[in-house]
Amino acid sequence: MAGDTVSDTIDPQASGDAASCCGVNACCTDAEQAADPGRTVLEAKTDAGCGCVNADDRGALPVVVIGAGPVGLAAAAHLAERGLEFLVLEAGDRVGAAVAAWGHVRLFSPWRYDTDAAARRLLEPTGWTAPPADDLPTGADLVRDYLVPLSRVPALADRIRTGARVVAISRDGADATRSIGRDEHPLLVRVRDADGTVRDVRTRAVIDASGTWGRSNPIGHSGLPAPGEEDAAPYLAGPLPDVPGRDRARFAGRHALVVGAGHSAAGTLLALAELAETEPGTRITWAVRGTSVARLYGGGDADELPARGALGTRLKEAVAAGRVELVRGFAVTGLTADGDTVRVTGTTPDGERVVTAHTVVGATGFRPDLELLREVRVELDPATEAPVRLAPLIDPNFHSCGTVPPHGERVLAHPETGFYLAGMKSYGRAPTFLLATGYEQVRSIVAALAGDREAADTVHLDLPETGVCSTDPSGADEESACCGSAAEPVTIGVGAPVGVGFATGQAHGRSGDA
Ligand SMILES: Cc1cc2nc3c(=O)[nH]c(=O)nc-3n(C[C@H](O)[C@H](O)[C@H](O)COP(=O)(O)OP(=O)(O)OC[C@H]3O[C@@H](n4cnc5c(N)ncnc54)[C@H](O)[C@@H]3O)c2cc1C
Repeated sequence: MAGDTVSDTIDPQASGDAASCCGVNACCTDAEQAADPGRTVLEAKTDAGCGCVNADDRGALPVVVIGAGPVGLAAAAHLAERGLEFLVLEAGDRVGAAVAAWGHVRLFSPWRYDTDAAARRLLEPTGWTAPPADDLPTGADLVRDYLVPLSRVPALADRIRTGARVVAISRDGADATRSIGRDEHPLLVRVRDADGTVRDVRTRAVIDASGTWGRSNPIGHSGLPAPGEEDAAPYLAGPLPDVPGRDRARFAGRHALVVGAGHSAAGTLLALAELAETEPGTRITWAVRGTSVARLYGGGDADELPARGALGTRLKEAVAAGRVELVRGFAVTGLTADGDTVRVTGTTPDGERVVTAHTVVGATGFRPDLELLREVRVELDPATEAPVRLAPLIDPNFHSCGTVPPHGERVLAHPETGFYLAGMKSYGRAPTFLLATGYEQVRSIVAALAGDREAADTVHLDLPETGVCSTDPSGADEESACCGSAAEPVTIGVGAPVGVGFATGQAHGRSGDA
C-alpha cells in the first residue's frame, strides 16, 4: 500500500466496530481496547491516523515530537515525567540519526552540558552512569552513551517510531487559511513510513525538533547555489567529511577547498592539516566570504568551552604557518568540472580568482525545512527564519558574542496554538545553537502543555559565562575583545539582566567583523 494515505479512507468521527474504529474494538466507549494487545488505545488510534476525536478526547491525544535527536528525546523525557501521552517520529533508521552522521566530530561542549535533566532522571534508575562531566564526547559517543540508552528507558521505548518521516503538519480539516473555529480542530501530522505508507496522526500539540542537518546552505554567494554547483555534486564532500576515516581517500595527496567560516570549517581544516603531515601532496585552501575570521579564531584561552577556544587558536596557527592557505573575501560565482578536479571561480576584493581543487567542502551552515510548515500558522523572522520573539536574541548580525538569554514557551509560541519549533531548528539559519539551550526550551514547552504556567515561565540556564571573542585575528587587539576575561559559571533565571547568558561568538555578531 505504498503511497496510500491511510486515514483518507477512514471517517475520523467513526465509532462502533473495530474496522471503522481504527484499530480499537468499541470506539469511544469505556470498553474500548486496542485490537493489537501490544498497543495502547491511544497508540492504536493515533498510529492508524484516526480515532474518535471530539472535544473531550482531544486533551487525550498525544503530543507529537518530530525528531529523535537530543532535543526531541529530551522533550520526550519531559513529557513522560509530566505523564502526558506522546509519540516521537524519527525519519532515520535509529535515534540520533543526524548526530550519527557527524559521529566522527568531537563536540566542544563537555558532557556536563550535553545531557538533559529529565533524561538523566529517567536513565539513572536503569543503572546508566553519566559519562565524566568534563570529557568531550564525539557525536558517536553522544548517540551510543546517551541517546540510545535514553531511547530504551521503559517510559520512552514504545513511544518512538523510527523510519517515520513527517512530511507535513496541518490542522485536521482546516488548512492554513481557515480561521473560524481553528483551535477546535486537532493538529495533524502526516507521516511517511519507510515502506512508503502515508498516514495521518492527530495530535494535541507538535514539537518540531527535526533539526537542520541535511539542509546545507549553498556555497554560492548571496544564499544561492552558484552556477554549476548542482552539476559539481560529485566533487562536493558535504559539510563535515570524515577526513581521517571514511573519506580519507578523497583528501590524501589531493587539493581540498574548504568554504565557510564556522566551527565545522575549522574542524575540517584542522583534520586536513593533520592528514597533510602524513600524506605528502595534500593541499588545503580555505575560502571565506568575509574579510575577517576573528569570530572563528575566537577567544582562545578566554573561551570557557576550552575545546572551542582551542579550535580557533590551532587554526590561526595553521594559517600563520602556511599549512592552510586562507583566501579572504572570496564569493563563489561558479563551479566547472575539469577532469578529476573542479574549478571554483570567485570574486575577491583583488579581482576574480579561480581555485582548482579535487574536492570542495561546503561548510556554509544550514537552513531549516520550512516546507513542512506550509499549513500551520508560524511567525518566523524573515532574516533568521527563527520564531519572531527568539530571533532578536540570536540574530547573527548582532548577537553572537552577546549572550543568549534563557528562553521558553512564551518566546517560542506561534499563532498556531500547540505548535512549537525547538532545538537546532528553532534557531533557523542562526548558527549558534547549543544543546543546553534546547533542553531548557523543551522543559518549558512541556510545562506549558501540562498547564504548569509558573514552571513554563521560570527559565534557567546553568552555563559558563563564556568569552570567545577577539576582534583582531592577530591578537593585537585583545584589549577590545568582548567577554574577554574568564568568568565564573552563572545561573540565569527569571529576571536575569539582559546580556547575561551563554555567549556564542563575537560581540555584535557580523557587525563586529567590520
Ligand atoms: C558538527 C556539530 C557539532 C556540534 N557541537 C555542539 C557542541 O559541542 N555543543 C552543543 O551544545 N551543540 C553542538 N552542536 C549543535 C547542536 O547541539 C546539534 O546540532 C544537535 O544535534 C541539535 O539537536 P536537535 O535535536 O535539535 O537536532 P538533530 O540532532 O539534528 O536531530 C533532529 C532529528 O530529527 C530527524 N528528522 C529530520 N527531519 C525529520 C522529519 N521530517 N521527520 C522526522 N524526523 C526528522 C533527524 O533524522 C534527526 O534525528 C553541534 C552541531 C554540529 C553539526
